[in-house]
Amino acid sequence: AKVNGRNGFEFFSHDMREKAQMRMLLLKELRTAIELEQFELFYQPIVCLKDLHVHKAEGLIRWRHPEKGLISPADFIPLAEETRQINILGQFVFSQALQTLNDIKAHITNDFQLSVNVSPIQLSTPDSGIDEWGAMLNAANLPASSIVAEITEGLMVNPEALTQSRLKALVQSGMQLALDDFGTGYSSLAYLQEMDTDYLKIDKRFVDNINKGSQELVLCETIIVMAHQLGLKVIAEGIETKQQMQLLLEAGCDYGQGYLFSKPLPKEQFMSLLTTSQII
Ligand code: C2E
Ligand code: CA
Ligand code: CA
Repeated sequence: AKVNGRNGFEFFSHDMREKAQMRMLLLKELRTAIELEQFELFYQPIVCLKDLHVHKAEGLIRWRHPEKGLISPADFIPLAEETRQINILGQFVFSQALQTLNDIKAHITNDFQLSVNVSPIQLSTPDSGIDEWGAMLNAANLPASSIVAEITEGLMVNPEALTQSRLKALVQSGMQLALDDFGTGYSSLAYLQEMDTDYLKIDKRFVDNINKGSQELVLCETIIVMAHQLGLKVIAEGIETKQQMQLLLEAGCDYGQGYLFSKPLPKEQFMSLLTTSQII
């Protein structure tokens, strides 16, 4: 913009200022939102593709803004990570997860699992509270395996010492690990094994494009075979059609998650869904 002369430069700096201002505003609002507890955990069922029972669910955070309504995590998680406020949100998510597991006890079997998304920041910064999770689960009288920590694969490549020891501690306390968004980064199945991962989540991008005879279907089939050989269960994300479900089932995929089964639901709605055994 600079070479275009004065106006171009001014336009550029105006744009930058606006961006910085928007960011400052969001930052301030985020701080208030944390104080006023404007966050809520939604729950998206994860079904066993063989019997269509809800065996698991993923907790997904929402910001209930008094004027703007529900704000998607994509719009505030990155900033919360930058400012480390993700550590506060992460603690909120975990305590909500425990509370919900307790509240649904009557409607679930012992092997039901609730997964929470764990940001790399929560694993790499000292003040995330993550080290107390095992004890909190114990105190809540819940089996440790009822929580699955979803982590992204970028984390697995050259993780820092603190991250690595935290993941080990999580696993040692009995919690399970899922590798989120598989296929979007450097995929190394060797890391999966090293980290004692229990689940691999195939990214929606692959699921979107699976048709009979497609490259994506071949990729999914290959991923599933390899994952199984390594002792991992596979969850496919973003299933929207019966055809996708059918092809994934035929490819040997264990679990599915997506709008075909259910969108992420507020707690009350999720609880009433649990009382019906088959969802499609
Ligand atoms: P993710 O972990 O990959 O979560 C799956 C996202 O896909 C969710 O978006 C979910 O609503 C959406 N989804 C599920 N099935 C379908 C489908 O069939 N079609 C379509 N179009 N979308 C589907 P959501 O809830 O907006 O979350 C976006 C991302 O924000 C998450 O991606 C995750 O990376 C992050 N996130 C959400 N909650 C948390 C949290 O508590 N902590 C952290 N650190 N990150 C979170
Ligand atoms: Ca996830
Ligand atoms: Ca994902």
